[in-house]
Amino acid sequence: MTSPAPAPTSNQPPPDRADVVVVGLGAWGSTALWRLAARGIRAVGIEQHQIGHALGSTHGTTRLFREACLEHPGLGVVAGRARELWRDLESATGAELLRLSGGLMSGPADGRVVAGSRAAAAEAGLVTTDLTAAEVKERFPAYARLPKDHVGLWDPGAGIARPEAGVRAAVGAAQALGARVLTGTRVTDIDETTGGVGVGLAGGDRILADRVIVTAGAWTTRLLEMPLRPRRVPMFWFRGREPHALAGDLALDRFPVFIRELPDGRVLWGHGADEGSGFAVKIGLDDDGGDSLGFADADPDHLDRAINLPRDAAALSAAVGEAFDLVDPQPVEAVACMYTRAPDGLFHVGAIPGRGRIVVGAGDSGHGHKHAPAIGELLAQVATGEPTFTPIDYLAPAR
Ligand SMILES: Cc1cc2nc3c(=O)[nH]c(=O)nc-3n(C[C@H](O)[C@H](O)[C@H](O)COP(=O)(O)OP(=O)(O)OC[C@H]3O[C@@H](n4cnc5c(N)ncnc54)[C@H](O)[C@@H]3O)c2cc1C
Repeated sequence: MTSPAPAPTSNQPPPDRADVVVVGLGAWGSTALWRLAARGIRAVGIEQHQIGHALGSTHGTTRLFREACLEHPGLGVVAGRARELWRDLESATGAELLRLSGGLMSGPADGRVVAGSRAAAAEAGLVTTDLTAAEVKERFPAYARLPKDHVGLWDPGAGIARPEAGVRAAVGAAQALGARVLTGTRVTDIDETTGGVGVGLAGGDRILADRVIVTAGAWTTRLLEMPLRPRRVPMFWFRGREPHALAGDLALDRFPVFIRELPDGRVLWGHGADEGSGFAVKIGLDDDGGDSLGFADADPDHLDRAINLPRDAAALSAAVGEAFDLVDPQPVEAVACMYTRAPDGLFHVGAIPGRGRIVVGAGDSGHGHKHAPAIGELLAQVATGEPTFTPIDYLAPAR
């Protein structure tokens, strides 16, 4: 199960009508399309670029998967459903989409990382293991610098998800179930009319749909008025100080997926080397919403993709040097990315208030890939009027 499904493409002309149109086929839209098609819905997915492209938020080879989600206790159930659906998608397509190797959350016992993850685990009924600082250091050599008064929480359900392969697999599975896909096609406007929603395409065509799901990532506010901010967030990879560290103490099984709260409250995330990430260690700093870490608001059509190491990596390199003595704090690879931040850091999933035929899935806030097929399932359920598999009031766009 290692080869990703080929990138599906389509040059079919747009249909006049559809039950549901999905605008944007990144992680959330591709999986929404798949979950609609699995229900026998006549669905059309529209993507402005090609399937699995690298210009949005879903690109590259890895994203962290966690079930004990510190961002909100309700998200543990969402991640659990996502795990089941990622596995279904793997079975349907033969692609490897999830590699569960466990994950380590660490920091002060009452800090937002450890306490938040523990609360989410309790809400979702997950089994986690508490570790003292000494136990963490014994099991994971990269943590020699963990402060004595910090603790660890081991989440055995954590690991790595594969973003581009996931999008390709979901679109391929949706097409196999009858969904239509238009690529290289930009949606210019969405307009509720009598009897449906008109979806305007660049070039002048219009599709009349019963419902529309907008999963346009950082471009969402071009189509809907929402309090979301696309953010430029560079992603960095590192090597070990010792030549063989990446195959030893910095390999994924010895340096697993982690979220680490530092003594000053900043949060590092990342994972050790695996073959899917080119045998490098991936580490990032959590976006605090300000500009001090080198992150800034972004225009998704004109993202500054050039990396300026002093501006983009200084804060991260200093934090890596402080936290992990085995890792060389000078990054060896970097890519400028973006995600879409909601004011409270939580997704917007549901019908737009007063515009019930339009359903949105946006505001991923940098932690949305792991949940993608479950978010796709929720969007399909909202669009078709089915009860959702878990309550999602805390994700309602009107909250
Ligand atoms: C640095 C970084 C690290 C991250 N780490 C993690 C992690 O460890 N774990 C995790 O779970 N998540 C992580 N994320 C977040 C994760 O990548 C995103 O939550 C996820 O990719 C969001 O997918 P999306 O479908 O909302 O957006 P996108 O993938 O951007 O999809 C939106 C799609 O809509 C298309 N589109 C937009 N407008 C139109 C239009 N008008 N017409 C047609 N098509 C349109 C775009 O081209 C795009 O393909 C990280 C993100 C970043 C940037």
